[in-house]
Amino acid sequence: IASADLRALLLSRIADVPDHPQPGVVFKDITPLLDDPAAFGALTEAFTDLCARYRVDKVVGLEARGFILAAPVALRAGVGFVPVRKAGKLPRATLRQGYELEYGTAEIEIHADALAPGERVLVIDDVLATGGTADAALQLIRRAGAEVAGVAVLLELGFLAGRERLEPGLKGAPLEAL
Ligand code: AMP
Repeated sequence: IASADLRALLLSRIADVPDHPQPGVVFKDITPLLDDPAAFGALTEAFTDLCARYRVDKVVGLEARGFILAAPVALRAGVGFVPVRKAGKLPRATLRQGYELEYGTAEIEIHADALAPGERVLVIDDVLATGGTADAALQLIRRAGAEVAGVAVLLELGFLAGRERLEPGLKGAPLEAL
């Protein structure tokens, strides 16, 4: 599938929901995409191609929609899937990372033994907004001793400048927005 066609297909399966979950936010709802095997399959293929291009050893999905997108990619790529979760959910020893939200702060975690030193990790999520969540995930990956191979998202909200916020943490690794 050509990349302009892929982009059109993916965009056609993302619903804009104004004022959700609060006034002024346009929520990008990917459930129509998940419900369309052609679109979900094409997205999975595109993410899987990135795994090959960046020689990825592990795929990290960010809770919660990142889990849905990343798990089939890890399987197709033949590498492990690792969840990054909101604090307090993972049952064993974790590394925890705090980050700034528009209002307040949040914390995410990864199992301390989930990544081996030197492993190349691709982070996958649905939407890059301010970039705070992805940036915290990059810090967790590095603290675990692994290498950031890149960040891949379905959709980047350019006006929120997440790419700029992520740039120092990427240290030259690619950010791909499909
Ligand atoms: P951020 O840390 O600001 O980049 O926010 C990223 C996380 O929040 C991602 O896991 C997204 O799923 C979610 N998110 C933020 N803004 C939106 C939006 N407008 N529509 C859907 N999801 C969003």
